[in-house]
This record gives sequence, structure tokens and C-alpha cells, in this order.
Amino acid sequence: MDNNTKYRSAIGVDFHPLTMDKKLTLGGIEIPYTKGLDGHSDGDALTHAIIDSILGIAALGDIGTFFPDSKPEYHLKYSIDLLSEVINMVNNKGWYLTFLDATIIAESPKMTNHLKNMKKILSSRLKLEIDDISIKATSTNGLGFVGKEKGIGAIAISTAKIEM
Ligand SMILES: [Zn+2]
Repeated sequence: MDNNTKYRSAIGVDFHPLTMDKKLTLGGIEIPYTKGLDGHSDGDALTHAIIDSILGIAALGDIGTFFPDSKPEYHLKYSIDLLSEVINMVNNKGWYLTFLDATIIAESPKMTNHLKNMKKILSSRLKLEIDDISIKATSTNGLGFVGKEKGIGAIAISTAKIEM
């Protein structure tokens, strides 16, 4: 490890309730399902977790600091566009992402067929190679609100470096 290079990893976690009258968007892609995620903008819990992990790299706060729920201009925005803004913020502080690892927590639908497309979109927004992005999916095996299909969550860890 170069003495002049500093590394950091930072975490992000998010959950949203499932509702009948919204489309399901995760990692910037629309996934066919009978329900969608309610809440802030398009309710993209995966992208929100990634945003919080990226903001954590530069210790800038969380998504609510920059895109508060109270401001209606963010309600119509796609979360994936907010991700691009956040990447620029940390780049301006000198931090550059080197790796992203994330896990979606959902009972259904199955995510397997969608992970490749999510990685493709995230790769272009995060300015990362596809091989430097890991997206996984798990369930709670029927336990709790995720298991009852009342919500979907995500956890993300970003790693970044800065040249001092
Ligand atoms: Zn969220």
C-alpha cells in the first residue's frame, strides 16, 4: 500500500414499505412485480443504501441531509440521478470509489435475473468497472416485515481511496 494513499470503507442501510400503487425500482432498474416501494422519490432502497455508503466515505452525512423528504423537487427524481450527484460530491473531496458491495434483502420477487442489469447501470453512474461491483440478494426466510412481503431493504459498503 502506497503511503500517500488513504483508504476508507463506509456503510449504508435502507428499508422501504411495499405498496400496491407503485412500480418496483431497485438499483436504477424497474423490476416486474405486483407491488413497488413507497417513500422518498422512487423508493429505490438499494440506490439509497449505496448513496449513504458513498456519503459516508467523505463523512458528509446521509441522504436526508442533501435530499430531504420535505423538499418536493426530490420526490419526482429518480434515485439513480441522485447517485450521480453524490458521486460528484465525494470526487470533489478527492475520494474515488474502488469497490462496491451490496445486498438486497427481499422475500420476493427473485432478484437473480436483474442483478446483471443493476450492475451495468451502477457501473456507469459510479464510474466503476462491472468487476468492481458486487450485488447480492438474500431473504429473511419468512421472518419479520421483509418475510411478510411488507418491505424491502438493502445494505451497501463502498470502498474508496484518496491520494494525499
Ligand atoms: Zn430510502
